Amino acid sequence: MAVSHRLFRPATTTVKKTFSSFLIRSLSSSSSSSSGSSLDPKIDLEEAAAQLEKSSSTSPSPSPSPYKGRNFHWVFLGCPGVGKGTYASRLSSLLGVPHIATGDLVREELSSSGLLSSQLKELVNHGKLVPDEFIISLLSKRLQAGKEKGESGYILDGFPRTVTQAEILEGVTNIDLVINLKLREEALLAKCLGRRICSECGANYNVACIDIKGDDDSPRMYMPPLLPPPDCESKLISRADDTEEVVRERLRIYNKMTQPVEEFYKKRGKLLEFELPGGIPESWPRLLRALHLENDKQSAIA
Ligand code: ADP
Repeated sequence: MAVSHRLFRPATTTVKKTFSSFLIRSLSSSSSSSSGSSLDPKIDLEEAAAQLEKSSSTSPSPSPSPYKGRNFHWVFLGCPGVGKGTYASRLSSLLGVPHIATGDLVREELSSSGLLSSQLKELVNHGKLVPDEFIISLLSKRLQAGKEKGESGYILDGFPRTVTQAEILEGVTNIDLVINLKLREEALLAKCLGRRICSECGANYNVACIDIKGDDDSPRMYMPPLLPPPDCESKLISRADDTEEVVRERLRIYNKMTQPVEEFYKKRGKLLEFELPGGIPESWPRLLRALHLENDKQSAIA
């Protein structure tokens, strides 16, 4: 596809090199003139990294969370459909740190019109990753804006997704913990296909009812649908990249590009593997236990 040739360039092997020499020339040329996109025409990785570093420093949190001041820097990894957004968002309310999902940042950015936006949309809607430089620039801006509002710490969801992104992040901030959510492969596709979003309030639902029979190796897995309240029912939409063909491609890309990121953090002793046993009622308390958060009264109601 012409778009991917213009936007993708091979990842550099060292962070140093990346920092000193990476500018997005192809992005700047494709976003020139009156594209109407709010993207910077030139994205300087050094500047982006400096922003990341600044935004990871301690500052007072406005949240009433009992964990206030602990300044969590956590990352969620996991295949499409595993439920990163759901659990990251719950933990974010519990811990009083923002949940930052790069997929959401990308979708927000792509809702603007313009040539660059439509080229990137083409990538996302085909299940491909967008260029590292683009995503780092989006993330830096988001973290900087958060810092200005007094946010400290974060739970990242969907970043890093390549080893280059992980190296860059590791070079500018200290990630405390990486939670790798796992779910049986049969459930992932069904969960993506069943995902629905309220076009008005943005709430997430799932119409899939997953019931996988148990066998000698694994127990039965039941995940009931998460149905919308009447107010949202008539406003449900699906993501453009939640079609069977595109989900399969996203899974393929995850295995190729993001699985090495798991290894990256494992080697550094930061990876917590967590196999989801089923839906939220079973999984949430177990996840809290795995994170040593189970004794807190707030956890139970989060
Ligand atoms: P998924 O359900 O596949 O985890 P996300 O909502 O996290 O989906 O991301 C949607 C799309 O946004 C991805 O398929 C990819 O095109 C783009 N994207 C999100 N995060 C990144 C990232 N860190 N690097 C590159 N592309 C990303």
